[in-house]
Amino acid sequence: MNPAWSTATAAADTVIPVVCIDPALLSSVGHFRRNLYLANVAALDTELRSLGGELSVLVGNPKEKIGEIIALTGAESLHFNRAASQFGRSRDNAITRQLPSTELVTHWGTLLTEPGTVLTGKGTLSKVFTPFWKQWIKAALPELPTGGSADLTVAPSTIRDELPKFDDPVIQPGTAGAHNALDRWLSSVDDYLETRDIPSVEGTSQLSGHLRFGTIAPRTLLDIVGTSTPGREGFVRQLAWRDWYAHMLLQAPDMIDRAVKEQYEAVKWLDDPEGLAAWQHGRTGYPIVDAGMRQLAATGWMHNRVRMIAGSFLVKHLLIDWREGERWFRHLLIDAEPSQNAGNWQWVAGTGTDAAPYFRVFNPIAQSEKFDSSGAYIKHWVPELSDVPSAIIHAPWQAAPLDLAANGVVLGDTYPHPIVEHRFARERVLNAYKTALGKD
Ligand code: FAD
Repeated sequence: MNPAWSTATAAADTVIPVVCIDPALLSSVGHFRRNLYLANVAALDTELRSLGGELSVLVGNPKEKIGEIIALTGAESLHFNRAASQFGRSRDNAITRQLPSTELVTHWGTLLTEPGTVLTGKGTLSKVFTPFWKQWIKAALPELPTGGSADLTVAPSTIRDELPKFDDPVIQPGTAGAHNALDRWLSSVDDYLETRDIPSVEGTSQLSGHLRFGTIAPRTLLDIVGTSTPGREGFVRQLAWRDWYAHMLLQAPDMIDRAVKEQYEAVKWLDDPEGLAAWQHGRTGYPIVDAGMRQLAATGWMHNRVRMIAGSFLVKHLLIDWREGERWFRHLLIDAEPSQNAGNWQWVAGTGTDAAPYFRVFNPIAQSEKFDSSGAYIKHWVPELSDVPSAIIHAPWQAAPLDLAANGVVLGDTYPHPIVEHRFARERVLNAYKTALGKD
């Protein structure tokens, strides 16, 4: 259910489906997201062809290209879904400012609720998630047309471009890919609350890449999944987090690179390129962290529980600025969105308005024992530990060297020593935060 599409095809006699690819934006994103985006564009074209149409691909500065196509075709109205990111907003504003005589019909198809519509009694966006959620779940959603019977046509060939080349994406693209993922998810969603924190099983929907590119609308998910069981409601609650962070970004655009709680800007982060590189490449010596970072590098996706553990490790154990982690995730994740990524990193770092408190320092060993007790997730992503028994896999340096060697592991050779000691790191980060907050 894409409201821009359904409204346009219901309102007009003829519609020209257009995608405008901005080379400046395309060259700045990581390979996983680039390939998935272009594959989604190709899949959209295939879908439109099955409806007797075709997707007009424009490559260039969107402001110029959209202005040009409207001048060439005399299109009377422009329908599109709005973006929460700063880049997306300034692009959309630049396009629309130059079209004073074109009817602009904008939608928020990528979110469930329109920013500014879920507010506290005082008319503000809640700084805490739970009150937002209580309002959000009661919000009246607009009725949308299911789509009309407009004829589909293409833009003049003089303005159309070739779709840039791309490699196979890491997930099946297009609405077909999204609906296949949803069908798989419907057989597990009722168990969501029990499985969502176990990274070795497929206990979450893995729909984030589809939500990111709009190959499925959150509204479709709500309509199909519903809230009839605790698992379903738990899943829908996550869609509310997604809306909340997007609403928040519109209200506080600098949350991308500034602590929402200003006083946390005073934390003195370490400049530690070696520590950062070890984290990025899954060589910290903490198996659960390394497994997560390697899953990210190999697939462009990481399980949420492990995102929290790995993120916390960077910020709290290595005392490296959360913005470094945000940048690395943004580069690699197929689902990276400025609002979601920065919102979650600020949660991890304790700098957001509803975040893990600064004194809560995840113990990566305890987290690993609790959420990957058999070590199955670690063994999959850190194959050099695949023969290590679960009793010692979470903290191999605590095991006797002979026991490790019996399972093919020599620390410092086949697998790294831990780059930092947990208790030391905990103390160091607590001191750094306390100093910044004037609590020492
Ligand atoms: P499910 O558990 O099936 O959840 C369903 C949907 O709800 C997700 O697809 C997602 O759209 C939304 N959702 C779930 N958890 C969250 C959350 N914590 N915050 C906001 N929305 C959520 N998610 C992104 O979409 N983009 C990001 O750039 C991103 N960066 C993150 C960075 C860090 C440090 C952390 C801790 C989390 C981040 N997340 C991000 C949130 C979350 O990890 C992913 O949305 C989730 O892992 C996607 O997998 P899934 O589709 O199987 O999720």
